[in-house]
Amino acid sequence: MHELAEIDADLIRKFDRNGPRYTSYPTADRFVEAYGEAEHAAWLGRRAVGGFARPLSVYVHIPFCAQLCYYCACNKVITRDHGRSAKYLRYLGREMQLLGEHLDGSRRISQLHWGGGSPTFLSGAEMRGLMQMLHENFSFDPEGEYSIEIDPRTSNEAAIATLAEIGFNRMSLGVQDHDPDVQKAIHRVQPPELTRAALQAARRHGFSSINFDLIYGLPLQTEKSFTRTLDEVIDCRPDRIALYSYAHLPTRFKAQRRIDDHGVPGADAKLGVFLLALRRLTDAGYVYIGMDHFALPEDGLVRALNNGRLHRNFQGYTTQSECDLLSLGVSAISKIGPTYCQNVHQLDEYYDCLDHGRLPVARGIQLTADDLVRRAVIMALMCQGELAIESIEIGHLIDFRRYFSEELEQLRRFEEAGLLEMDSQWITVTPRGRFFLRGIAMVFDRYLQDAQAPGGRYSRLI
Ligand code: SF4
Repeated sequence: MHELAEIDADLIRKFDRNGPRYTSYPTADRFVEAYGEAEHAAWLGRRAVGGFARPLSVYVHIPFCAQLCYYCACNKVITRDHGRSAKYLRYLGREMQLLGEHLDGSRRISQLHWGGGSPTFLSGAEMRGLMQMLHENFSFDPEGEYSIEIDPRTSNEAAIATLAEIGFNRMSLGVQDHDPDVQKAIHRVQPPELTRAALQAARRHGFSSINFDLIYGLPLQTEKSFTRTLDEVIDCRPDRIALYSYAHLPTRFKAQRRIDDHGVPGADAKLGVFLLALRRLTDAGYVYIGMDHFALPEDGLVRALNNGRLHRNFQGYTTQSECDLLSLGVSAISKIGPTYCQNVHQLDEYYDCLDHGRLPVARGIQLTADDLVRRAVIMALMCQGELAIESIEIGHLIDFRRYFSEELEQLRRFEEAGLLEMDSQWITVTPRGRFFLRGIAMVFDRYLQDAQAPGGRYSRLI
């Protein structure tokens, strides 16, 4: 029997709680304003201390979208005025130049990602211009992963041909749900033919790894309606699928106030849709990577999972080894050495900082020795699903059992439920335990231990 077949509603109810997705540790809500531009500039200048600089991963945030999706929780600007992106690109150029003045070490990029918002809001000429700027400031590894988020509603064959021509080799398509009623309820009408056409164009133009984003828990979604979505998706056979949970938080996200609360599935109905998707995708041959991610067995993510070489960054799981992440644009998060920082959220603030020759950093954090050891533990569990106790002791000069005595005690309930195994040398997540990675990782999160209401601000697994 497939190990995920043992995942049932009772087990999920028992171990499901609010928690972070650990694309970073500490999580972004722990960043502080005391860490700002000066600190970021100093760390950019120390990248190559000791003669070694990590390869670079570059993220570019394009915040514009032509139309609002009601479920959206992203930092975006809704506009039909395409003149706004021209100005934004000029400022991205200034930010790149300013970063270049501080950046020490190699300029070699092994990973690039454009996200948003909708990067496909840009015209073909603007995309070429932005890529040109990146090439003027960085050197691209010929074997690198260059990916972009695509809105199939605004990406025709010519646009996809342009993306391939300027060097992209991976793409992620926003799909969410194919049911026409659900699409109307979320204000994102996207006939399946459009998605299929974008996928086929991407394949024709040589894209090597194509991801579909799906969401469960959307208004009017039922097991029956999502069965049709899954039929269509499985028939398209994208290399990767990200299946995200919709968290209906209208008090926090203004766009969601346009969704009729009555149509949002309750916890049990949502769980039913999720279990259906889990079964259908694994039956169709997709491998469950962890958290929200599935991939075909021949995809690099599955090879990395099997070889213990999976990593995690702000886009989720990746095959790229530890990179310094340099991010550009509003609200973008960078990770340089033992630090994280995030840019300002608002366009006006972003432009103002750059007009005054300042890096547009809003807040950040420099990790303490305790943060570093906990990050190493959390990432090993989230990515490799196992932890060699000795390697943490040697790498961080601690007595693991003494340092984490309380955490080891808390892990017992996961062990008793068959979700992980522990001995004197290893902590190993079992195959079905991979489904509860977030809960296991949360045991090691010091900030949650310190919080008054642990996990209260985070979304649930289901
Ligand atoms: S979900 Fe994506 S495309 Fe829709 S409004 Fe939000 S950022 Fe834009």
